[in-house]
Amino acid sequence: MLQTAGSSNVLIEHTALGNTVYEPLRVDTVSLRLGGVAQIADRIGDPGGWQVMEVGDGNLNLVFIVTGERGRIVVKQALPYVRAAGESWPLSLNRAYFEQHALTRLGQRAPDRLPQLYLFDPAQALQVIEHLYPHVILRKQLIAGKFLPGLALQLGTYLARSLFRGSDLCMPTAQLKADVALFLGNSELTGITEDLFFTDPFCECSRNRHTPGLDADAAVVRRDRELKIAALELKCRFSTVRQTLLHGDLHTGSVMVCDADTKIIDAEFASYGPMGFDLGSLLGNLWLAYFAQVAHRGSVEDCAAYCSWILQVVAEIWGVFAAEFSQLWRTERNGILGGKDLFELQDDPGGAEIVLQSTLQAIWKDTLGYAGLEMHRRILGFAHVADFESIADDAMRAACARKALAAGRQLTVYRRSLKTVAQANALVAGQGLAC
Ligand code: ADP
Ligand code: MG
Repeated sequence: MLQTAGSSNVLIEHTALGNTVYEPLRVDTVSLRLGGVAQIADRIGDPGGWQVMEVGDGNLNLVFIVTGERGRIVVKQALPYVRAAGESWPLSLNRAYFEQHALTRLGQRAPDRLPQLYLFDPAQALQVIEHLYPHVILRKQLIAGKFLPGLALQLGTYLARSLFRGSDLCMPTAQLKADVALFLGNSELTGITEDLFFTDPFCECSRNRHTPGLDADAAVVRRDRELKIAALELKCRFSTVRQTLLHGDLHTGSVMVCDADTKIIDAEFASYGPMGFDLGSLLGNLWLAYFAQVAHRGSVEDCAAYCSWILQVVAEIWGVFAAEFSQLWRTERNGILGGKDLFELQDDPGGAEIVLQSTLQAIWKDTLGYAGLEMHRRILGFAHVADFESIADDAMRAACARKALAAGRQLTVYRRSLKTVAQANALVAGQGLAC
């Protein structure tokens, strides 16, 4: 069966690979199984000359880069379990279905920021995606200390466009409600976030782990009533607020960069949720990168310039986000929550500007809350980050993590009183760096 997805020209073929029974690919079976799909051979050349490399450095899926004489593609296939945990943690294959829906929607809302989807085979839970080159995972570049001049502008713009245009500020509401219903189906992955982000790090849980030396810090977190109240309040908003279509896992490992370009990958955690969740995940990871720098650069002096660049990126992402969001507010606010009927149509555009400011403040408060929780879960929970994992010395890793936890706690608990990004960055910098 063959169909074309929505307004895009993505092929959705239930049996593109000629097999209705799911079967994971291997490096040595990719040419055999994908070689007969004309659309792929047309794009990258004769399957006889394909070279296949498995690059899945992520937590969940198989990812292959296939190189032919005319080009490259990425083949991403879901596995029926969590790759990082093994077969004992089953996970449904339909996450690939939600990922391709998110990829096409986010790509339409934020043109040029997502790779193209060429083909989706639901039976094999498989997507064929544009190969990004010479892009590298942002987290790797942050660990390497690389300055990326266009990064903040492209990320801030991406966030404003994807979050605004996926909301009832902008979308026809019937279409939005159908999408809310669709993405509610991604309940298994949303459930992982509900557990791993909001609950496990703040409890004793067998999936958690932390660096030796942080036992006492972990125990303090798990007795911290104020922090746990905030975690539950923010979880409640994540699970019940259907503000926009989120990427759902927008950490620095879901961003690929080169000097001139920034792309967003890996949208399988997409769900409807509060706008601040994507913003907070991203800023939380940038602040984690900040606290790990001293270990990567060797000394507080040697990391000073890069650390201040990271804080500048954080400030610029928020600044660009707010400016672009405001621009969209003034030009594309046609949804049921736009309020034009209350303001512009009653000759009171100033009223709409007041609502814009209160909307941005509410998003900012959520952003800080989620950023601080992200900083906790990456240090005390199941899924850690290479920024810290690549620090060889346990004592140094623990010292860096301790600073990040202290900042993360304050960002989350005091989210209502930290009014500006400059205040948040000052709080982060005020922790000092481990030495
Ligand atoms: P997972 O969901 O399993 O974490 P990802 O989508 O994050 O998988 O992909 C895993 C890795 O594959 C990425 O970290 C990146 O190195 C590489 N990758 C994924 N998509 C692309 C792409 N479109 N172009 C180039 N490399 C990619
Ligand atoms: Mg993933």
